[in-house]
Amino acid sequence: MVPGRDRSRPGDLIVTSEQTGLPAHSADWSTHAGVPLVRTLASAMLQLNEKTGLTAFTLPYPEEAQRALDRTVLACLVKGATPPASLIELVSWCRSTPLVDWPLDLPPDVIGPDDRLLDEDSGRPTELCHEWSERTRDTAVALRDREIISTALRLCRDYGEEDAYTAFRGLLVNRPVLTTAESFEVFGDLVLEPVHELIRRIYLTAPASHLRRGEYVCCGRCRTLLTPVRGGDWWCERDRCRRQGPAPLGRRLHQEDVGEVFHLERPLRQFVTGPGLAEAALQDKLTALGLVVRMWPGYDAYDLLVTFPDGVRWAIDVKDWANPVFLGRAARPVPQEPPYDEAFWVVPRHRVTARPGYVSVFERSRPAHARGLRLLTDGELVARATARLREGTTRA
Ligand SMILES: [Zn+2]
Repeated sequence: MVPGRDRSRPGDLIVTSEQTGLPAHSADWSTHAGVPLVRTLASAMLQLNEKTGLTAFTLPYPEEAQRALDRTVLACLVKGATPPASLIELVSWCRSTPLVDWPLDLPPDVIGPDDRLLDEDSGRPTELCHEWSERTRDTAVALRDREIISTALRLCRDYGEEDAYTAFRGLLVNRPVLTTAESFEVFGDLVLEPVHELIRRIYLTAPASHLRRGEYVCCGRCRTLLTPVRGGDWWCERDRCRRQGPAPLGRRLHQEDVGEVFHLERPLRQFVTGPGLAEAALQDKLTALGLVVRMWPGYDAYDLLVTFPDGVRWAIDVKDWANPVFLGRAARPVPQEPPYDEAFWVVPRHRVTARPGYVSVFERSRPAHARGLRLLTDGELVARATARLREGTTRA
């Protein structure tokens, strides 16, 4: 048994509006024509990337791409700007021109000074592009990553196996790439039995766009497949990784030796693997302080439950989002169960460094029912935990 080879989507996945986490206060966005336009552009870039690697275009253009081009042309005409002459030019804009310089009508704060839909160096979709495509919808359309996670939760609950769910999350975070032999191993793992079929559907045959001379290479930091770019270099899809410098080359998988290679599908790499690495890093730091940390307690009610020696408990959700407006709009109180004394949302520090005013933009964008939700960086949270431990020692 190996993961599914086709890209068809299972139609029987169920998601509730609560799990989509969509904000209730979305009416104000509809007054800005730029929001649906950037969303269309982002979806078009993701589709083109999937189909052609954003290099070769032939007429007729894919529907979403044509729509993106048409809408951009109209927006340019309204603002008296010269519109893009072709899809190739539109793609080139997405790569070379920060969104802030586009003739768009957008709500305040939604664009950072360097935001682009395509990476300048590799020409590949940025993490922001994925967020624009997946995190800006106003209707309760099912989000792919949440669909999968809620399905996994349901399956594991039906089996009464919280361990299965934890193992599933661990698989997505730690092993986004599987060789054929490794997939046999996963399907032989009885703990994961409730989600075997689901795993088969979300690990897809790695596309040739990741191949160079018959070889796939994994990022030494992120474990996902790197993309070959000009000059013999390799490009990592994670913003954080690229900011740390050139990707360290990790596992090298020669097709001839390992056979088929499977890559976790992109929405899950973006919204589960990436944040999962940030969650794991935070878990390590808090455990090193001597605190007891439980991951994804209560079937993933939140990400980390931290218990101090005096019994005080903190609930933490880690949110690795590039855009603070999208994050603010998705803000909601941390679920009450399993019970805790204090709750935080935590964002990796690199996000706050990359976007000026990240935390205040987040706070301004929160809906009324989430006004009390605190957002800290991972560094601030660890400092706060350290201070609390120190106070405890002094008191004792
Ligand atoms: Zn990386």
